[in-house]
Amino acid sequence: MTATIIDGKLIAENLRNLLAEKIAALPNKPYLAVVLVGNDPASIIYDRNKQKAAQALGMVCDIYHLPEETPEEDLLELIGRLNNDRNVNGILVQMPLPKHISSAKVIEAIAHEKDVDGFGPYNAGLLHENDPRAMIAATPKGILYLLEHSIGDLSGKHAVIIGRSNIVGRPLASLLLNRHCTVTVAHSKTVDLPKLTQQADIVVAACGCSQMVKKDWLKEGATVIDVGINRIDNKLFGDVDFDDVKEKAAFITPVPGGVGPMTIAMLLDNTYQAYLNQNNNLKKG
Ligand code: NDP
Repeated sequence: MTATIIDGKLIAENLRNLLAEKIAALPNKPYLAVVLVGNDPASIIYDRNKQKAAQALGMVCDIYHLPEETPEEDLLELIGRLNNDRNVNGILVQMPLPKHISSAKVIEAIAHEKDVDGFGPYNAGLLHENDPRAMIAATPKGILYLLEHSIGDLSGKHAVIIGRSNIVGRPLASLLLNRHCTVTVAHSKTVDLPKLTQQADIVVAACGCSQMVKKDWLKEGATVIDVGINRIDNKLFGDVDFDDVKEKAAFITPVPGGVGPMTIAMLLDNTYQAYLNQNNNLKKG
């Protein structure tokens, strides 16, 4: 078998085109505030890409770029101002933050209706409870979209997720459970991981271990989603050994061009949803 490649780039482009049409029909432009502290080169590139993508869709996106030594209370004060500004629909704080700032405190300070990353405890709790009001973290939301787009109904499928982070593994486990999958979450202390993945209909690798998942870890016809981004000698590798695994899987995402483009598309979708929620609430209020 040679796997069908799930073209995340194309699927994300189609999603963005649909979003652009919906945004063009709105009376005002949705506004995304991106907060960046410090000068991490990768973070600067990520945020510029998000800004460009938001603007291309007809949104307004400003980057609030603060110096590395910004005190925690100044950052919290900015978030408070953005929370209270009716023109701001979504707030995203770029991680990682400098060490002297508590990211948990900062994430918790973002108004839950503007938490377009979905990392705050309120939205994580709603997702955990399968409440449709949850703002869902962009990467797992994108993965769910790719899975349903490729294999349709997920009910009854056994999914093994490698990684239990708050931004990928845990929210994805809730999402898949809510879609009636049987979910196994593996992590660095898991014993005999290949024995688990060999039983899976769906394997999601989100551990940051370059090309770890091999063909003999899978059952024939599994769907494999590779979240990993590992840069080695200026080349990008996923957590899956793509060339090996594509001989056995039914569907597989490439790196780059799989999950990555979906993450930005879903972030913008969350910003659009936040705009709609806030404007409906304003009308009601
Ligand atoms: P974290 O480092 O926060 O979490 C990694 C997880 O993988 C942890 O739960 C860890 O276990 C587990 N793990 C590490 N090594 C192993 C191993 N050998 N076997 C099994 N489990 C292991 O990473 P993130 O969740 O933030 O990101 C994961 C990967 O996805 C990274 O490569 C990141 O760059 C990428 N990424 C890609 C995105 C995209 O848009 N494409 C978005 C976000 C992330 P433990 O909990 O025990 O430490």
